[in-house]
This record gives sequence, structure tokens and C-alpha cells, in this order.
Amino acid sequence: MNVAQRMSRLGTESAFEVLARAKALERQGKQIIHLEIGEPDFDTPAHIKEAAKRALDAGATHYGPSAGLPELREAIAKHVTQTRGVPVSPEEVVVTPGAKPIMFFVIMALTNEGDEVIYPNPGFPIYESVINFVGGVPVPIPLREASGFGFDLDLFERRLSSRTKLIIINSPENPTGGVLDREQIERVAALAASRGIPVLADEIYRRFLYDGEFVSIMGMPGMRERTILLDGFSKSYAMTGWRLGYGVMPEPLAEHITRLMVNSASCTASFVQLAGVAALQGDDAPVERMVAEFRRRRDIIVDGLNALPGVTCARPRGAFYAFPNITRTGRKSSEVAERLLNEAGVAVLGGTAFGEYGEGYLRLSYANSETNLRLALERMRPVFAALAG
Ligand code: PLP
Repeated sequence: MNVAQRMSRLGTESAFEVLARAKALERQGKQIIHLEIGEPDFDTPAHIKEAAKRALDAGATHYGPSAGLPELREAIAKHVTQTRGVPVSPEEVVVTPGAKPIMFFVIMALTNEGDEVIYPNPGFPIYESVINFVGGVPVPIPLREASGFGFDLDLFERRLSSRTKLIIINSPENPTGGVLDREQIERVAALAASRGIPVLADEIYRRFLYDGEFVSIMGMPGMRERTILLDGFSKSYAMTGWRLGYGVMPEPLAEHITRLMVNSASCTASFVQLAGVAALQGDDAPVERMVAEFRRRRDIIVDGLNALPGVTCARPRGAFYAFPNITRTGRKSSEVAERLLNEAGVAVLGGTAFGEYGEGYLRLSYANSETNLRLALERMRPVFAALAG
């Protein structure tokens, strides 16, 4: 079968490929520690599961409106109003199966062929993939360890052009754990607002912030009308498999994004959306407990990585990934990741899974038990010792 040319421009998310390979090794009897996939190992809080069960029993098993159920859009509008300090109406909310479709739909809706899109690199691989897919020109902003994996703002300014149609930011960031601080966000906002460029703000890791304050670009002067906020339930409420996310954007754009929903998924599962209402309105303590536990694990993994030969690891300020520097091994990230999987039974991702500027790094998700993290560190030691020797 001849597939359309555009398919050759579509990238992938290596985490799912490495997961599949790790599972294949497990089927051969190998014991693998999974640090490749970005999902909390916690179970979804009980009150959210109960709400889904009640919704199923009450008949929430049918199609719903493409932009989302009114009760969830209202709950999200209220939640975003409270957490970002910016008044938001339900009409500006579009609910999707996971937050990923918001990324896909927004890039598709705002980028013509030849338009430039600025995005972080290393960064979530789907940004670059979809920019290429729709015929846009990806303009990466390298995130450097020396500057805390923040935006190089002078470079950012130089990379803006008359063809820049969209800026993507992600804070706290996947894969580096870097956080854009207020000053950085203010400068991005000032440049975007003065040039009238929309910003897709991926705030999916908002709750996973270990130092400092969370700052949303949505509240900056001139940004209310040009911010598309992306958030969801996967990470904060340990609901990755439920597929529930959303975008908040100016109403005219929300209508286009809703039309993309009509043309693709039709709507997000109704009982899942009602569970989402329970997540936003219910007890927040399980989220707080999970974040506190992740902070503890962050320190275990970072201290452990820094004790390995040839490895240094900055302490990430957010998300749940460690991004150790392995340049001293003199090997490519992909080769080291491969050896860790085959020789140590530890599945991790090479930094280049997140773009060319990820070379020299690995990404390890520490959303795993303390026992597994300690075992992974123990198993990785001989591999790094061999590489160093
Ligand atoms: N944005 C970032 C930066 C992510 O890391 C992820 C998931 O890994 C997503 C968005 C999408 O999350 P989901 O589609 O599960 O809601």
C-alpha cells in the first residue's frame, strides 16, 4: 500500500517503542526496571474511580458534545480561573482524550506550510513531529544545562521572525525537569504580545514543582487573548490510561479545535469526563501525597546518579524526570540507553529521543518505587564502570 508522503514527516515518541522492546525482553524472561515511560506509578485516587463507576451505572455511556460535557467544561473553567488567576469561561475550554490531541490540533489549526514554530529542544517529541507533519518549519530553542535548562532568551529573540506563527513553551519541562521562572516567562510574553504571536503553554506538569512558584504565561499582559493552555489529568491524578485532557483558548479558536474533534474522536468518553469533574472538585490530598513522594524519589535518583562513574546530574526543579549528563562516557546517548537495557535490564531513554540537543543525556522517569530506583542504580553501576574504564 502506498502511504501519503506526509506520513514520512511524522515522528514518534520513543518511550512507547522502548516500552514495547522492554516488554518483549520481559516475555523472554528478563527482569526489566521501567524508567522509560512518563507515568505515575500511583493508582488513580479512589474517589475518582468511584465517580467513574457511578457514571457508568447512571448511563454515561453515550456520545456527548464534541467540546466536552458542560459540567466538566465548567469545572475546568473554574479550576483554571483559580489556579492561573485569570477568568476563564466554559466556552473557551475544549476537552480531548488526553492532552496530546490539543497539541496536534492547535499546531494543525495555526500553522500553514512554511510557517515557523518555535519550541524547546530537548522537548516533548510530538511538538517537532507535528510541526513537520503539517509542513511547518521547526525552529528549536536549545535548552542548556548551564542555564538550568531554561530558555536562552537572547537566542529566542533572534529566532523570532515575521514567519513565526506559534511559540511552544513547556514548564515544568519534559525531559529536563527545567522550570521557566517569572523573568523568563515575562520576557517570552512581552515578545509574543508585541508581535501578536500565539503561545501554546504546555502546563501538564504544573503540580510537579519542587522549588519556587508556578508562573503561567496566561496571566501576563497581552497574553490572555493569545495563550492556548494545555493541561490534563494524566499526570496530576495518575490517570494516564483514562485519556483525559483539555485546552483553554480564545473562543474563536476553540470552535476550530472542536471541529477537529468532530472530525476525529467525536467526543471524549462521557464517564471519563465525569470522573474528571470528581478529580477537580474532590479531595486534593492524594495529589499532594504523590508530589511529596516524587520529591523524595527525585533526591534518591539524583544523588544515586551523581555517584555513578562518568555521570553528573543536575537536580530537576519539576516534572518527574532526571536528565543526567553522560558526556564523560564519550558515548552516544542512544548507545548508552541500549546497553543499559540489554546489560542492566534498566529501560531509559536517550536524550536524543527529545531532539538533537538532547545528545549527551539520558532521561529516567523516577515515577517508580524507591526499591526499583535503588535497584536500577545498583544495576547501572557496572555498565558505567565499564564505559569509564
Ligand atoms: N505534554 C507533555 C510535556 C508530556 O510529557 C505529555 C505526556 O507525556 C503530554 C503533554 C500528554 O499527556 P496526555 O496526552 O497523557 O494527557
